[in-house]
Amino acid sequence: MSARILKAAVTSGFFILAMIFLSGILGGDAAKQSLIVRRDNTRPNTFCVDFQTMGTDATLKVCISDPSRARQMLVSAMDRILEIESRMSTYLPDSESSQLNAWGGHRHVPLSQDTIYVLKQAREIAETTEGAFDPTYAPLRDLWRAAEMEDRLPSAEDIENCLQRTGISNVKVDESGSRFKKEGMQVDLGGIAKGYAIDEAVEVLKKHGAVAGLVDIGGDIRVFEGGKIPEPWKIMVNDPRGGKHPPIYLLLRDVAVATSGDYARYFRIGEERYSHIIDPRDGWPAEDASSVTVIAPRAILADGLATAISVMGIREGLKLAGSLEEVECMIISLGSAGGYAQVEQTSGFENYTD
Ligand code: AMP
Ligand code: MG
Repeated sequence: MSARILKAAVTSGFFILAMIFLSGILGGDAAKQSLIVRRDNTRPNTFCVDFQTMGTDATLKVCISDPSRARQMLVSAMDRILEIESRMSTYLPDSESSQLNAWGGHRHVPLSQDTIYVLKQAREIAETTEGAFDPTYAPLRDLWRAAEMEDRLPSAEDIENCLQRTGISNVKVDESGSRFKKEGMQVDLGGIAKGYAIDEAVEVLKKHGAVAGLVDIGGDIRVFEGGKIPEPWKIMVNDPRGGKHPPIYLLLRDVAVATSGDYARYFRIGEERYSHIIDPRDGWPAEDASSVTVIAPRAILADGLATAISVMGIREGLKLAGSLEEVECMIISLGSAGGYAQVEQTSGFENYTD
């Protein structure tokens, strides 16, 4: 065996032993015990976990030299994300969102402080974006899902019928819960819940004493960096529909970034693809932008704004982002007839690019 192969074998043997150690002892139930905490070789003294949540992949990283403390921090942050998912996912019949959707048209539904906070933030973002972001768009989502199943466009009448049951101003939120002002309303917090979960996971990591870390849910990311020599995190922006432009890298320290667009999820009707992000103002899927990346101090804001700017389109979207403090935006749109992608951004965005 050559010295190089021997060295590789010893290193990987050590790595496996370290993984077994890290995935043992600490943590509560069996799932947590089998959770693999691995070293992130791109940064010194950095540990990470990968898991699934909110229908996508999540990665948490923390910079700390003690592996057992790293594990404790990462498991607590993961638990917090899973708690938020269990409250807000409309795919879970017992979630608070599902309960609100089932009963909110008839009576006041008690909710946790998490869901109340997210509903209030959703209202603020709806106001800032003049209704381009609105979680009460949900009846339209169901209409477009049905249209996809039947492979035909929804009728103007069906769209109008849904629009009658939307509008965040028709959602009453108080300190103990919420109710809808109209029957047949529904909320879908999918455009903002990832961002909230990311912010909360960062809080948990910091509370446990972490000075630097990263929380990524489905490509929406928040990083923090408070070490003696702050090292920026290098993040690649998702590429809409793949390979139409060279990868764009961001260098981020204490900030969140979210990307929305029609590159991953969409409705297909006939030969056409329609974005899964719907304009709550006219009931039609968003058209103008393939990929919207927003940088903001908090992930909930970056997430909500990225979804909203997908609806608003390039001109209106960049104007809004440019008017908001500490918010930057980059929009990648596909050129006509499958040509090369075009990139447009707010003036401060380049301060974050590599
Ligand atoms: P994101 O993954 O943040 O881009 O958000 C996409 C998700 O936001 C969709 O899957 C829906 O759950 C939700 N959504 C779609 N359109 C809107 C809208 N106009 N306002 C708020 N949420 C929306
Ligand atoms: Mg979003």
